[in-house]
Amino acid sequence: MSKQILYHSTRDESRLFTASQAILQGLCEDGGLFVPSEIPALPVSPWEMKGLSYQEIAYLVMKEYLTDFTEEELRSCINNAYDEKFDTRDIAPVVKVGNAYYIELFHGATIAFKDMALSILPHLMTTSARKNNIKNDIVILTATSGDTGKAAMAGFADVPGTKIIVFYPKGGVSRIQELQMVTQKGDNTYVVGMRGNFDDAQTGVKAIFEDKKIKAQMDAAGYQFSSANSINIGRLVPQIVYYVSAYVRLLEQGVIKEGEKINITVPTGNFGNILAAWYAKAMGLPVDKLICASNRNKVLFDFFKTGKYDRNREFYLTSSPSMDILISSNLERMIYLSAGEDAAKTSELMAQLKSQGVYEITEDMKAKLESFVPGYADEEATSEMIKKAYDENSYVMDTHTAVAGYVYEKYREETGDDKVTVIASTASPYKFARKVISSIDPSLEKEDDLELMDVMEKLSGVKAPRAIDEIRSAPVRHDRICDAATMEATVKEILGM
Ligand SMILES: *Cc1c(COP(=O)(O)O)cnc(C)c1O
Repeated sequence: MSKQILYHSTRDESRLFTASQAILQGLCEDGGLFVPSEIPALPVSPWEMKGLSYQEIAYLVMKEYLTDFTEEELRSCINNAYDEKFDTRDIAPVVKVGNAYYIELFHGATIAFKDMALSILPHLMTTSARKNNIKNDIVILTATSGDTGKAAMAGFADVPGTKIIVFYPKGGVSRIQELQMVTQKGDNTYVVGMRGNFDDAQTGVKAIFEDKKIKAQMDAAGYQFSSANSINIGRLVPQIVYYVSAYVRLLEQGVIKEGEKINITVPTGNFGNILAAWYAKAMGLPVDKLICASNRNKVLFDFFKTGKYDRNREFYLTSSPSMDILISSNLERMIYLSAGEDAAKTSELMAQLKSQGVYEITEDMKAKLESFVPGYADEEATSEMIKKAYDENSYVMDTHTAVAGYVYEKYREETGDDKVTVIASTASPYKFARKVISSIDPSLEKEDDLELMDVMEKLSGVKAPRAIDEIRSAPVRHDRICDAATMEATVKEILGM
C-alpha cells in the first residue's frame, strides 16, 4: 500500500485536495500550483524494474502520487494512453548519439513531447470526474499558438465524457500546424480559426472561463470547463515516468551500474519537463546534475546564475518556439520547494513577479537549487549542433533537442564531467524541418513545406511519421471561423446551448 498523498497550493498549505480533485481543478483558486504534501520514494529500485514495460514502470511511479486511484483505474488510464498512438512499443526509446543518450519523447500522435502527458491526461480527468461523482461532461477550452492545441485534441479525441474546443489565430500559425488542426479526427473535437492574434484568443478563452453566468448555463446543460494546461499535476506526474524508464533502459543495456548517477539535460520553456526530472531525483533515482538548457530567451539561465528572476527583457522569436517563454510557470513549484516548502514566501515572490516582473531568492534558496546547471544556445549554436549531429553521427535532431545537445556538450567540455547523460529529445525533426534542413545543407531547402518532408525522409533515413502522412491526405474536417467578439457565441453554438 502506498502512503496517501494529498495536494495543496504552493501559496497556501491549509486546504488539502486529493489527486483526483487537483487534476480536475488544474490551477488552485489562489493562483498557486498544486504540490504533493510529500514526495514519495520509488516503490522499487530501478534495478528491480529491469525488463518491465513502459506501462509497468508508469504504474509503479504514478501510483505513488495518485493515491486515490484504484489499481484498476490507473492501469486502465495508462493502457488507454500508451498504446498504438505511439509508433514504437518502447514508447520512449533511448538512443546513443555521440557522447550522450537521447530519450526520444516524440513517438506519440503529434510527434512532440507534450504527447507523453496529454495522451494520459484525458483519461486521468474522466476517471477523476467519475471518482468525484461529477455527472457533467468535461469541456476543454484552449487557445493555441499551434502545437499544444493539437496535442490536447489528439489526447481528448473520442474520449467519452469530454469535448475539446480549440481556438487558433487564423493566419497566425504555420501551414503544417493549421493542416494538423483542421484535419483533426474525433466527434468531440472542435477547431475554430479566430480572426486575431494568439493573445486575443488567449484573452477570450480566459474571459469565458471566468464568466460566472456561462458557468451556470454550462452546468444546467450538463457541462463544465476544465483546462489541459501544463501546470496540471495530471501532466507533471506522467512526465516523471520517462526519466525512470530511461534509467532502467540504460541499466538493461549495461551502460550504467546499479546506483550509478547520471546527468539529465532538458530543453526548457515552461519548466515542466525538467521539474519532472527533479521529482524523479527526489524520489531516489540516482541523478546528479539537471542541466537546464534555454534558447536565446535565457531568463532561466540568468535566474540560476544570479538568483534573480527578471521577465523585463526583450522577447525573441527563435527556431525553438516551444521554449520562447519569459514566465516559466512551473518554476513556482521549485521556488516553493527551495524556500523549504514555505507558502507565504512563495506567495510574496509571485506577487512581486506579477506586479514588477522581478523577484530575487535568498542565498539559502539558491543553495537548494545547486543540482541545476543552466546553459543556453543561440540560433547559430543550435544550427551548429544540428549539423554536427548529422555530420558525425548521421542523426537528425530537431531544434529544441539541439539547444539541449549544444548546452550539454559545452558543459561537458568546460567541466570535464563525463557522467552518463540523458538528454530529453522533445520533438521529431519533421516538426521543424525547415530549420533542420537549412542547418544541415541550405541547398536542400524547398519553398513548399510538404516537399520539405521528402527531403527530410532522404536526410534522416527515417520514414515520415504518421502525423505527417496524415496531413497530406486527411480531409479537412473543421472550417469554423469567428471573431474575438463572437468566441463566446461560438462555444455556445458548439455545445448546443
Ligand atoms: C513544450 C516543449 C518544450 C519545453 O518544455 P517545458 O516543459 O515547457 O519546459 C521543449 N521542446 C518542445 C518540442 C516542446 O513542445
